[in-house]
Amino acid sequence: MENQNDTAITPGMQEYINQSDRIRAERTNYINSEVKKWRFDTIAVHGLYSVQDALNFHQGAIIEPAFLSSSQAYRDSDEMAAALAYKIPTWCYSRIANPSTYYYEWTLALLEGYGFSGETSCCSTSSGMSAIFSAVTPFLTVKRRDEPINFVATAQCYGGTFQQFTVRLMKERQIECRWVVDATDIDEWASKIDGNTRFLYGELPSNPQLGFFDIAQVADLAHSHELPLIVDSTIATPALLRPLCHGADIVVQSATKSLTSSGFGICGAVISRKPITANLEEAALRDDFAFNIKLLQNRDLGPNLHPMQAILTLNDIRTLRSKMDLMSRNTMQVAKFLQDHPKVERVEYLGLKNHKLHELASKYMWLVDAEHDELYQKPVNRYGHLMSFCVAGGIEPARRFFDSLQRIWRATDLGRIKSVATIPAISTHQQQGEEARKMAHVPGNMVRLCVGAEHPDDIIADLDQALHKA
Ligand SMILES: *Cc1c(COP(=O)(O)O)cnc(C)c1O
Repeated sequence: MENQNDTAITPGMQEYINQSDRIRAERTNYINSEVKKWRFDTIAVHGLYSVQDALNFHQGAIIEPAFLSSSQAYRDSDEMAAALAYKIPTWCYSRIANPSTYYYEWTLALLEGYGFSGETSCCSTSSGMSAIFSAVTPFLTVKRRDEPINFVATAQCYGGTFQQFTVRLMKERQIECRWVVDATDIDEWASKIDGNTRFLYGELPSNPQLGFFDIAQVADLAHSHELPLIVDSTIATPALLRPLCHGADIVVQSATKSLTSSGFGICGAVISRKPITANLEEAALRDDFAFNIKLLQNRDLGPNLHPMQAILTLNDIRTLRSKMDLMSRNTMQVAKFLQDHPKVERVEYLGLKNHKLHELASKYMWLVDAEHDELYQKPVNRYGHLMSFCVAGGIEPARRFFDSLQRIWRATDLGRIKSVATIPAISTHQQQGEEARKMAHVPGNMVRLCVGAEHPDDIIADLDQALHKA
């Protein structure tokens, strides 16, 4: 991932560099003296888009403008040379950088870094899948074609992740993925690491089984081998869990989901701490991983986010905390109803007291700033709006139940403001086959339900009538 950078600095370029150093210093000062002191909701609403920015650069627009321009024009060749050598901040070409995606990146970096003492940065991506691919790729370089390399990952993960790891990496590139079947067993993680391991990867809570693991414990294990821990924290969102605060090095988000609860589009992000623990040759990647994959690797691969999408997502993120609170509470009510229903075999929801991972999840999943919320005035656990359950009697009744839903949407989707359900075995986890579904605990009668912001009584009524038809 080398940047061929042999540009000589001319006096004209130096002037541009000095000018942008001043602007960068002002920004750092603004972040440290203002933004870092705000509560989560204020960061979610404003991010780095300030009144000053609006008046100086954006005609006073109170909402971040959607910059649809493919590229930026320069005053002269000195400015162009400085920009393309990355000596000054630049919007040179929208595949590499764009003002709208810049605000998206800063909002996510700040929210994932909320409560974390160090610095964070973010690389926006076109989807959650490209976020995962962007995050793992730098660790998979080899010096020889036949160099054996591996990584260790939780078997309980999103179906698309399973496909990316097994087909694109294992089958097509002979990179071994070592699946951890019981992610709560630290000895199983440890037993899979050797001198050729490049990183540890975990999804939590996992989609759809609600798998969980002890982040701090796994991060310590990774670091004792000088390896990074990458966490897919899509289901929790930073409103409920911020893995960087617990030792993770890199977080990947399918911002498509609860972060863009409106359902307007596909997008992703890689957020990292500075520096990450990693056995990487390039110091730049260790020092500022997300920023440098954005400027180097992703410039060359091109999985960039569309600026219009960045604005749509920013708009959804502004109310993230209160939405996650409301939808988590609704889901809790629905989970309790399903748990007592005779036509339901098993309910997987981390908020249920009798769930085997309830205690562990309760250590990590907290509604951010509840202690500063006049409604609560103390820390409160919230477990998100994803749950799954098995319909009694097997696949046929599960299908009949599913087909009878009237208010709840049948779709391969989650994280919506509207309740959505799917049967993972015939949708998200269809490609991976029966055996892999068994390893990941995804039986054919499992229904994944993501409860939205409707009144829970209406969702419960819909579930009840459909269960009677099961
Ligand atoms: C949906 C999802 C992804 C993939 O994200 P896309 O935005 O659909 O590419 C990755 N991880 C998890 C946990 C997901 O739910």
